[in-house]
Amino acid sequence: MRTELFIDGKWVPGSQGMFPVLDPSTGQVITSVARAGLDDLDAAITAAHAAWPRWAATPPRRRGEVLHRAFEAMTARRDEIAALISQEMGKSLADAQAEVAYAAEYFRWFAEEAVRIGGELRTAPGGANHILTFRRPVGVSLLLTPWNFPAAMATRKIGPALAAGCTVVLKPAEDTPLTALLLADLLAEAGLPNGVVNVLTTDKPGDLVEPALADERIRKLSFTGSTRVGRILLAQAAGHIVKCSMELGGNAPFVVLDDADVDAAVEGALLAKMRNHGQACTAANRFLVQESVADEFTAKLVSAMRDMSSAPLVNERAVTNVQSKVELSGGTVRLGGKRGNGPGFSYPPTVVTGLPRDSVLAREEIFGPVAPIFTVQDDDDVVAFANATEMGLAGYVYTTDLARGLRLSERLEAGMIGLNRGLVSDPAAPFGGVKESGLGREGGFEGIGEYLETTYVATSW
Ligand code: NAD
Repeated sequence: MRTELFIDGKWVPGSQGMFPVLDPSTGQVITSVARAGLDDLDAAITAAHAAWPRWAATPPRRRGEVLHRAFEAMTARRDEIAALISQEMGKSLADAQAEVAYAAEYFRWFAEEAVRIGGELRTAPGGANHILTFRRPVGVSLLLTPWNFPAAMATRKIGPALAAGCTVVLKPAEDTPLTALLLADLLAEAGLPNGVVNVLTTDKPGDLVEPALADERIRKLSFTGSTRVGRILLAQAAGHIVKCSMELGGNAPFVVLDDADVDAAVEGALLAKMRNHGQACTAANRFLVQESVADEFTAKLVSAMRDMSSAPLVNERAVTNVQSKVELSGGTVRLGGKRGNGPGFSYPPTVVTGLPRDSVLAREEIFGPVAPIFTVQDDDDVVAFANATEMGLAGYVYTTDLARGLRLSERLEAGMIGLNRGLVSDPAAPFGGVKESGLGREGGFEGIGEYLETTYVATSW
C-alpha cells in the first residue's frame, strides 16, 4: 500500500507529517498517508511543468499507448484495486469492482481519443483567404477529486488530460487518498514518463489548493465535488483566469409517469438511488410519481429496498447529515429512517412519503440511501417541480410513450437524462451539468476538449 507523495516519478514523504485514513465499515484507522505542504506543491508543479513540453510533443499514438497499457493493468488488477476502494470508501466489493471496470474504460476511451485531436480549414466568408485552426494542450492541470468514486473520478480527469498532452497534479479527497496513490503506481508501471502525473495527498485541501491556483504555471483546474467548494475555487481561479471544469452537486428528479412500466421503474430506481449507497452526484434525489401509479410504485420500491442490505456511508458526518435531513423532512417514514447500532458509519435504505414540496429532502442533495416520494399531476407539473432547483445534473424519466419521454427530456433542465434507464454514467457520453451543477463535460467526444486550446492562423491565400 502506497502512503507517500508521488512527485516526478518518485515516492517521497510529505513535509507536513501524516494523516489517518479510516475504514468506514469499522471506523478504524487503515493507515496514515503523507500530508503535503507548500514545498511539496512547488516540487509537484515544477515537475509537471518541466515534463509538459516533452509530453505534449510525444506523438498522440504513444500517449494513447500508455493509457491503453494503464487500462489493461487496471483490468488485470481489478480485484486488488476494488478491495482497496471498498476498504477506504466503504462501498461493497461488487460496487467497487464495477467502479474499477468503469474507471478503466476512461483510460481506454481517451487512449482512442488521443489520436483524433484535429483542427479545421475553413474558407473565410469573403472567399479571399482561409482560416486554419489547430488544438494544443492547455498546460499543467490541477485535478481535484471527491471520495465517492475514488478511481473513476481520477481516471475521468487523468485520461483526457494525458491524451491531450497535459501534465497533471492530482489531489484526491482526504477520505480516499489510497486509491489515487495506487493509480500513480499503475501509471508509472504503464511507462508514463516522470513528472507527467504527480499526486499530492492532504487533509487540509484549502492550504494547498489556493496557493496552487495562485501559481501561474497552473493553467487548468478540473474539480469534482460540492457546489459550495466549486464556488470558492472559481473565485480563486479568477486570479490567473485559469480554465475551469466543474462537476458539482445534483438534485436529480426521477419521474414515473402514469403509462410507465412500474416494475422497470422500480428496477431503475434501485440503480439510480442505491448505487454507491446513494452517494452519487447523479443519484435520484426526488421521486416524482404520477398519482395513478404512486401507491403501486411506493409499495414495490419499499419492498425492493427492504431486501437490500444496509451499507456504511463514508464517514460519521455523512450519517449525521442524512439522519437529520430525514428527521426534518416533515414526511412519513415508510422504511428505515434510523441508523443501526453496529460499528462503522452505516445507514439503512429509507423511503419517505407524504412530504411537502419544500421539504429539505427535495431542496438539498441527500447523498445517502433515502428515497423521498412525491406525487405529481401531469407533465407540466413534473416540469415545474423538477426544474425548481438551482441544480441541473441528471434526471430520469420512465414512460412507455417514447415521444412523451423525449418531449419531457427536452424540457428538464439537466445535463443528462436516463430515459427508461437508471444509469447515465458512460465513458463514451458527455457527463456534466447545467445551472449550479457545473461547467464543461467529461467523457464522450467533448471530454478531451476541456484540456485543449484552439489557435487559429489567418492565411493569405
Ligand atoms: P467536497 O466539495 O467537500 O470535496 C471535493 C474535493 O474538494 C476533495 O478533494 C476535497 O479535498 C476538496 N476540497 C474541499 N474543500 C476544499 C477547499 N476549501 N479548497 C480546495 N479544495 C477543497 O465534496 P465531497 O463531499 O468530497 O463530494 C460530494 C459532492 O461532490 C457532492 O455534492 C456531489 O454531488 C459532488 N460530486 C459531483 C460529481 C459530478 O460529476 N458532478 C461527481 C461526484 C461527486
